[in-house]
Amino acid sequence: MKTDFDQEWETLSREVLTGMKEWRLQHPRATLREMEAALDERLTRMRARMLEDMALASRMANWKEEGEEGKPMCPHCGRALVSRGRGKRGLQTQGGQEIELKRGYGVCPKCGEGFFPPG
Ligand SMILES: [Zn+2]
Repeated sequence: MKTDFDQEWETLSREVLTGMKEWRLQHPRATLREMEAALDERLTRMRARMLEDMALASRMANWKEEGEEGKPMCPHCGRALVSRGRGKRGLQTQGGQEIELKRGYGVCPKCGEGFFPPG
């Protein structure tokens, strides 16, 4: 489980702050609306990266290593899922950024249904 993203987040936020300052110096006549758009663009990118990192810190990102009780259940019959490796799942954030989540894919041994467990 990946949880050591403090450093990355600090770098990320510093990039937003200094990037914004530089942008302002290069656009001395920017309107409030332009400033807002430039700021939103940077914050949206940072938001997407943070979301990816937080999703990776989920136990469900790599549940194959979990014991029998830690494995996700089939929503239909309650059986523990069987791992079928990892897959990439592309999602779009509310800000319209693409993020990619690496998740363990599972199949129910009884119903045969396969999916990426949520969480
Ligand atoms: Zn099932």
